[in-house]
Amino acid sequence: MILGALEAGGTKMVCALGDETGRISEQVSIPTTIPAETIPQIIDYFKDKKIESLGVASFGPIDLDKASPTYGYITSTPKKGWGDYNLLGELKAALNVPMGFDTDVNGSLLGEVTYGSSKGISDAVYITVGTGVGGGVMSGGNLVHGMLHPELGHMKMVPHSKDTFPGRCPFHKNCLEGMACGPAIGDRWGRPAKELYDNELVWEMEAYYIAQALANIIVILSPKRIILGGGVMHRMELFPLIREKTAENLNGYLKTKELASMDEYIVPASLNDDQGIMGCIKLALDALEEAGR
Ligand code: ZN
Repeated sequence: MILGALEAGGTKMVCALGDETGRISEQVSIPTTIPAETIPQIIDYFKDKKIESLGVASFGPIDLDKASPTYGYITSTPKKGWGDYNLLGELKAALNVPMGFDTDVNGSLLGEVTYGSSKGISDAVYITVGTGVGGGVMSGGNLVHGMLHPELGHMKMVPHSKDTFPGRCPFHKNCLEGMACGPAIGDRWGRPAKELYDNELVWEMEAYYIAQALANIIVILSPKRIILGGGVMHRMELFPLIREKTAENLNGYLKTKELASMDEYIVPASLNDDQGIMGCIKLALDALEEAGR
């Protein structure tokens, strides 16, 4: 069985082929410029590959409501040319196979709970901390959409006592993304994050914001596992700091077996940065099943 996977990002589009076990057989990367340039290249890649279905995990915000006239659209993105763009419609018109559609972070979450170290966990949250911050949510085995989809990266933060940085989110200033994304670290300290490895306060502050967000997520969503991915989370030294500060934030209020072993509760992504594209394979598989094929 050949399944198509498209991880639609703001800087690149990753197109891949895989099978139902999640194994990726080939993968290419196409720069995200404007739809008129990028979309024909994606269609060209998939059109002769005999895919049974396609799973698409996209940057957003996107419309995930199947009853909506703009289902499958990228909606209010500031990225030039992609606002109010009918991404899924354009792909369907050209490729004519069943398609699954979700957010990029829900895709990564789906990859981890299907093929990764969190396999089988029914209630989980995936957070990516990179050029932006986003989060996907699974509750009772279902990816959460609600009115649109969760936007965990934009929860407001209480600033760290030693932090004078106002935050860089154009909408909220000091939300999680505004304070903790990779570019926020660079803006705060005047140098890129990778040049700041020896400065303990940089990472203490980074862990402070992420842990504050995780404590909020835990009391609101009650996940059984939290997975952290994205470029900033490649710095593994952050994990013990984040676990410690998350527990400090919760202050003993919740007593569960999951929280009793923080090393297994807050974990790094486990699929070598293929969690997103593997999640797309699962979206493709689910779309096929839904189409009754
Ligand atoms: Zn924000």
